[in-house]
Amino acid sequence: MPQANAKLNAFPVFMRVEGEAVAIVGGGEAALAKARLVGQSSAVLRIIAQTAEAELLSFIAATGAVHVAAAYEAAHLEGAAMVFAASGDEALDRRVAEDARRLSIPVNAVDRPELCDFFTPALVNRAPVAIAIGTEGAGPVLAQMLRGRIDRMLSPSLGALATLAASFRGAAERLPKGTGRRRFWRDFFAGAPARAVEAGEFARAHDAAVELLVSNAPASGHIALVGAGPGAEDLLTLRAHRLLMEADVIVHDALVPEAIVAMGRRDAERLPVGKRKGCHSKSQEEINALLVELGREGKRVVRLKSGDPLVFGRAGEEMAALRDAGIAYEVVPGVTAAFAAAADFELPLTLRGVSSSLVFTTGHDLKGNSLPDWAKLAISGATVAVYMGRSVAAEVAGRLIEAGLSPDTAVAVVENASLGNRRRFHGTLADLPSLEARADLAGPVMTIIGDAVAGANFERSEPLAAHRYEDTASATAEGVEQ
Ligand code: SAH
Repeated sequence: MPQANAKLNAFPVFMRVEGEAVAIVGGGEAALAKARLVGQSSAVLRIIAQTAEAELLSFIAATGAVHVAAAYEAAHLEGAAMVFAASGDEALDRRVAEDARRLSIPVNAVDRPELCDFFTPALVNRAPVAIAIGTEGAGPVLAQMLRGRIDRMLSPSLGALATLAASFRGAAERLPKGTGRRRFWRDFFAGAPARAVEAGEFARAHDAAVELLVSNAPASGHIALVGAGPGAEDLLTLRAHRLLMEADVIVHDALVPEAIVAMGRRDAERLPVGKRKGCHSKSQEEINALLVELGREGKRVVRLKSGDPLVFGRAGEEMAALRDAGIAYEVVPGVTAAFAAAADFELPLTLRGVSSSLVFTTGHDLKGNSLPDWAKLAISGATVAVYMGRSVAAEVAGRLIEAGLSPDTAVAVVENASLGNRRRFHGTLADLPSLEARADLAGPVMTIIGDAVAGANFERSEPLAAHRYEDTASATAEGVEQ
């Protein structure tokens, strides 16, 4: 609960240290930790240690810090902008703190808050941007935890973007004060310049910023085709998460769980365009047109697809429509269902000496007369991951067996891979047709076929064979049993 009247006992400031000396007294681990922390700045480190541990010595050698290899005296502190008492020797640290105070230099004594004029924060460093976290008495574990969380939220390229921003400060001053200038900066940090920096294209970022300055045109839209992963919230990539938090509009498929869609900003528009089997709420053409329209309106859109957007995700059609319309887009990969299912089964998708190739397929191309290429790969030992394969399980099994794959080939099936309600089944190719008849499998189902499947862990899976003979009405199933 935020307390309106809670006061900070230590107030955060950023102190100029460029070219200044920072004195650290101590030769052990505590001194090294402080040296590493302050070493993230351009201060000149002065380490006062008659004897220093090997790791500290190599730090000094690597960074060019000044090493005063003598017994401590107050004179060693002179001219420093701040002092760290980190000797681990209580009496010495106290002496250092007293000397610093006499010299009017702010001091920090490790693990002795009562001797400290200032505390050091946990630091998220995206120079020139810094986020300092202080927790006063609550301790370093909390500070480090928060540091990790904040670090994950921020783009690794934030520092480069801030540096570019600094170079545009002067030019932006010439824009009309108020809305115009604010809009420039908003588009700079959330629009094309930011995206170009993120992609490591600095010249393009510069050009995009210049264009923003001169055109003063409304920001152009951008569509990110983002993989949401197989369902578990924490299998989302950090980049996907960041884009979700920045999006004005989230256009999502039915397979993407609500919890992931909800990671977007609260005021983001959410448009379900769910395509569940047999109930298309929007045609692909309508989705393409919607994305183009949102892009033209200048919106930042996340097009959220389950798994990886480029695997059975119709991304090809959406990208073509966006390209044709001249709308900027990018693709953010996701954990595809086959990987999540394999992980749930501890199943090696490639296995030395057994299987060295992997096929992502859908059983739906088996309906024709000719056997697709992937069936030949399966016969020559590839591991086959079948997407959308439940309703064609009998067809897949029948055709593969017909083509020469042994009916005893191992098969693993996962419903709701990565989710708490996942179910695992194992069996052989001959058992696979039973999947079709199972009304109890309401979630998405991934089937993995091949000899490598034998390397999986079957401890938490049920045999498919238990259901093998229920589906007697299926001609293919009968065929399999011949
Ligand atoms: N782009 C997605 C695939 C979309 S096609 C990806 O890369 O994963 C939809 C099919 O993916 C489903 O029919 C099912 O076969 C598979 N699938 C998606 N999520 C799954 C999950 N959590 N568990 C098992 N299979 C899943």
